[in-house]
Amino acid sequence: MENTIAQKLDALLKLQEIDSSLDEILKTRGDLPEEVRDLEDEIIGFETRLSKFKSEIANLNTEIDNFKNAQKEGEKLIKKYKDQQMNVRNNREYDAITKEIELQELDMQLADKKINEARARIRLIEEDANRAESVLNERNEDLKAKKGELSVITGESEAEEKALIAEREKHIKKIEDRLLKSYQKIRDNSMNGLAVVHVSRGACGGCFSIVPPQRQADIRERKKLIVCEHCGRILADVESVEPVHQRR
Ligand SMILES: [Zn+2]
Repeated sequence: MENTIAQKLDALLKLQEIDSSLDEILKTRGDLPEEVRDLEDEIIGFETRLSKFKSEIANLNTEIDNFKNAQKEGEKLIKKYKDQQMNVRNNREYDAITKEIELQELDMQLADKKINEARARIRLIEEDANRAESVLNERNEDLKAKKGELSVITGESEAEEKALIAEREKHIKKIEDRLLKSYQKIRDNSMNGLAVVHVSRGACGGCFSIVPPQRQADIRERKKLIVCEHCGRILADVESVEPVHQRR
């Protein structure tokens, strides 16, 4: 059998009560969960940078090794040319070999220059890496502290939170999908997390706009779903407390 409007409103009120309790629990954690997430993101960023620095340094070291190997080959060649020079038959052959030796020596000087450049670059990267690493260490300390703080606060309310979540799971099965969706939508758009409110002292309990007496009478009857004309929150009932100032 279909639920009556009154039953639906009661179910929504109960859901609101559960959600508001969960909101209260989340509030005790303040900005800590967000701060922990931000720190974790920042740390990943630093770790990525550090591993980039590391691979840049490794590449430069490979480059240096290659130049050094080329220099060793060059030395061997020069030695070979010098041996050949001992056995030349004329000046022309001697000069040709001298030219080869000069070219090899130029290559080796160029390699020296490249090696020095690579080493200077490595030193710069290492400076950046050291700075990044010390910030990373600071952030890791921060994260440890904040996580500890958060786990103490979370620990205090963990059992209550779990019970509320379980109760919510069970309870939402009693509410039709369409209604649940509008409830969620109103709640998401509301700063205080309230989607279902009472009319209290003649005003909407969510946005405090005045609800006209005739509308209050309709709400009290609980024969149809009525929402606040100003904020769109569901007005589930009218609080029995007499308004302080009687309005006409
Ligand atoms: Zn309202």
